[in-house]
Amino acid sequence: MSEFAISTDLFLLPNDEGKTVLYAPLAGFVCHGNEDLVALLRDLETLRSEELSAEQKEIVAYLIRRGIVNGTVKRPIRARSGDLAPSKLTLFPTDQCNLKCIYCYASRTRTHRRIMDWETASSAVEYYLDYLSRTGDEVFDLEFHGGGEPFVAWNLIRRIVDYTHSRCGQLNKELKVCASTNGMLSESQLDWITEHFDSLIVSFDVLPRVQQFHRPSGIEGASFRVVHNTLKYLDRKGFRYGIRCTVSTFNLELLAESLDFVIQNYGCRLLYLEPVSACGPNVTLHKSLVPNLHRFAEIFQSIEPLASSHGLSLGYSGARFDRLTPHFCYVGTDDFAVTADGLLTNCWQVTSADDPMASTFIFGRILPGGTLSCDARKLEALRSLTVLNYSYCADCFAKWHCAGDCVVKLGDDNLAGARKNDRCETTRRLIAGRIAKLLEREDYYEKV
Ligand code: SF4
Ligand code: SF4
Repeated sequence: MSEFAISTDLFLLPNDEGKTVLYAPLAGFVCHGNEDLVALLRDLETLRSEELSAEQKEIVAYLIRRGIVNGTVKRPIRARSGDLAPSKLTLFPTDQCNLKCIYCYASRTRTHRRIMDWETASSAVEYYLDYLSRTGDEVFDLEFHGGGEPFVAWNLIRRIVDYTHSRCGQLNKELKVCASTNGMLSESQLDWITEHFDSLIVSFDVLPRVQQFHRPSGIEGASFRVVHNTLKYLDRKGFRYGIRCTVSTFNLELLAESLDFVIQNYGCRLLYLEPVSACGPNVTLHKSLVPNLHRFAEIFQSIEPLASSHGLSLGYSGARFDRLTPHFCYVGTDDFAVTADGLLTNCWQVTSADDPMASTFIFGRILPGGTLSCDARKLEALRSLTVLNYSYCADCFAKWHCAGDCVVKLGDDNLAGARKNDRCETTRRLIAGRIAKLLEREDYYEKV
């Protein structure tokens, strides 16, 4: 029996120079390895310490100190069972919108006007307050998201925030509020939002001609003008926000110009670039807009240095290097997200009972007074959607950053099945690039 066991995910990645990079994300470890080290690791679990040379013993002792060998590295996962155990409340106040974005995933299911009623909203707030009282958590995180554009339900949002604020005051909870928005906001709305919210993510495709083509409002140039004014306002106030820019065949080759435009015009510190996907109900409509993902990765990497030299983080959802998680998004977590109709959904794109994937993702509803009706079997099935259960991802070095990608974008009914799409290659390339960057940092090295 060997005395040694590799106790964390350890990936051996060949690099362009014919060397091997050792990457153990859960142990926060990356280094170059020569052939001897690779051979030692390959055989380690069959060796005894008296069989090791003095140099090998030193290396193994170091790997033990770093938790790579004989360690107890914790996995970033909380086993869930029983009742819902949410970490925030997400509300989809409406499926209506004031833009007509050409790639919108929600537009096909937006068949009738829906605005959340007050009873649904206040019941959701009361459920979450009750949950926080039971767990003793101090912070009430509240988020507004689409369906449509949340701030179209302006009076409702004000009422919800005022109500939650007052109830949190009574119960000694701290309220934090954020939203994703298309940024079509007036100055008086912004006055109120910046008083009551903590942050915003603004969906904005940056260059005037791109915004006009991707996200028309019906009035020539208006969607760029209004969102531009919104961002300028947020900058004047020093308010925290990020920009989410959708990338299609139309603006793929304009990303360097878009980045430059952001740097010249806005104080934003976070720019997400998200390629259009052909998925969901609009699959045919979207196909011609889907950019070449290899080219996307190439451009992303080429503009990253300019972004970081201006203190701007570039993000892409599959390749978030700063996180280690078994969940790509809220799918598989105990997210408490309530649609305009009072349904509980685990996927933020599935916000209506009409959606073709509703039977998978909608697992219950909020009841008047703040209790839940949950389909426990569905909830358990959703909880199993984590990278730990995706055999396709088991040996992927990007797994704790990508976590198996968006299950809806798979375009397959088997949500735990093979990923098989070129988003994998994009993700792995971008994560490999981030690992290589770490290895370039001289201050990163520890003397072994
Ligand atoms: S195999 Fe693909 S989907 Fe799975 S973790 Fe790796 S990059 Fe992500
Ligand atoms: S599964 Fe995909 S579409 Fe649904 S919430 Fe997650 S990332 Fe969004």
